[in-house]
Amino acid sequence: MRALVAGGGPVGVFTATAMARRGHEVTVVDRDPGPATDGAWKRAGVMQFEHAHGWRPQVVQSLRAEMPGVVEDLHAAGAKRMHPPGMPEMEALAARRTVVERVLREYAAQQEGLVWRTGHVDGIAVTDGVATGLVVDGDTLVADVTVVATGRASHVGDELRGPVEGGSCGFSYVSRVYRAREGQAGYDRFFPSFETGPGYVSLVMGHDAGTHSVVIAYPSDAEEFTTLRTNDGQDRACRVIPNLIPWTDPNRFEPLTGALAGGHLTNTYRLQGPALGLPPASGLYFVGDAVMTTNPAAGRNLALLLPHARHFLAALDDPEQDLDDASLALDAWAEMHLRPWYRDHAHWDRTLLRRFAGLDIDLSDRIPSDVIVAAIEVDESIKPYAGMYGGMVAGPEILDPVEGRVRELLDQGWRPKTPGPTGAELTEAIRT
Ligand SMILES: Cc1cc2nc3c(=O)[nH]c(=O)nc-3n(C[C@H](O)[C@H](O)[C@H](O)COP(=O)(O)OP(=O)(O)OC[C@H]3O[C@@H](n4cnc5c(N)ncnc54)[C@H](O)[C@@H]3O)c2cc1C
Repeated sequence: MRALVAGGGPVGVFTATAMARRGHEVTVVDRDPGPATDGAWKRAGVMQFEHAHGWRPQVVQSLRAEMPGVVEDLHAAGAKRMHPPGMPEMEALAARRTVVERVLREYAAQQEGLVWRTGHVDGIAVTDGVATGLVVDGDTLVADVTVVATGRASHVGDELRGPVEGGSCGFSYVSRVYRAREGQAGYDRFFPSFETGPGYVSLVMGHDAGTHSVVIAYPSDAEEFTTLRTNDGQDRACRVIPNLIPWTDPNRFEPLTGALAGGHLTNTYRLQGPALGLPPASGLYFVGDAVMTTNPAAGRNLALLLPHARHFLAALDDPEQDLDDASLALDAWAEMHLRPWYRDHAHWDRTLLRRFAGLDIDLSDRIPSDVIVAAIEVDESIKPYAGMYGGMVAGPEILDPVEGRVRELLDQGWRPKTPGPTGAELTEAIRT
């Protein structure tokens, strides 16, 4: 079949390569021409390019299945192989996204049957309910199968789909990449250091080549934190937030970037077509962030979106399924495996913002997952459930059996610890 893939981000490249490996004639269309000859790569329109990314075991598993050898290419480019303690069979990667995307692109460029075209996708060509290709810079490119992987901010194909569920997650980000100075050890733990403070979330995530990112996520409407987006403000905050202090020590680490602002973070979910059971057009499929986004603080999206794309590939392979069946299969899988995580994160964020505003946990509502997980500080029996939730070995409903126990603890007066300076103290620290 002739296939067009709009968008050459991680999910577009993954899907396009896998289709070409199956013998289809694939063209990827992306407006980004790729790295310049001097190696610089701006990645305009992909705000998160330089932001911290964790590559969970589900990502590595998907890459191994559909892009054989690419994980080894990533290792060769410096990405570190990581295993959860005591679980050598589970393999994750620690690497900057800037490193991973380059390797994925280079791999795709070598793939027989895959052609790269630089151009802007203006829209989808549809005739009598059948997608016939893409309109690119005014020209129509023809295909039997059209895949849209244009990311979180794109409107390509909007007119063929129902409304987006969700929206802003209420949080903004500031992150910064550091590198260990010569002779100093970098952050090489499997788990990011993740703390929910009294008014903000702070985390440290290890990457390749002695680099790591520190991230502060704060309520988007907290104007008093705007200074965090400046190098000075970010520096000052890192001197008082406990889990960031050791990883921003100027004697051990140097910043590789300035403070990187990340706004408009969302929790969104969207069906393929106008409603469940209705394809957008025959032979047209949406994958990647065009289907779901979640607040990146938990670093989950690609661990869900690559398996989603694999489900699409399996449906295309199945001689029993026609093009519309493949669309319905994508929605069915998403309803079962994506939507629960979207809902889980939206609830986590909504309730955390309430707590940051000084309100108590609402015990008449579902106990948010972050609170259930935090309860391991007072009840060890919750740990296995928290571990399975954190590792995404099942859906977020894995926490259901212990929700009652946490409710009991909350009734008895327990509340999660919130280490670090208060919002007011942090505001003062970043001002002076
Ligand atoms: C701050 C931040 C941190 C994150 N951290 C993590 C993490 O730790 N772990 C994780 O798994 N996920 C993380 N995510 C989510 C992850 O970045 C996304 O899920 C991922 O980028 C989705 O890939 P994609 O290919 O669908 O879209 P994108 O990566 O957005 O790629 C879309 C591509 O489409 C192209 N494009 C868009 N419109 C057009 C057009 N009209 N014409 C031509 N080309 C077009 C763009 O140039 C781009 O190349 C994070 C997200 C954010 C915002």
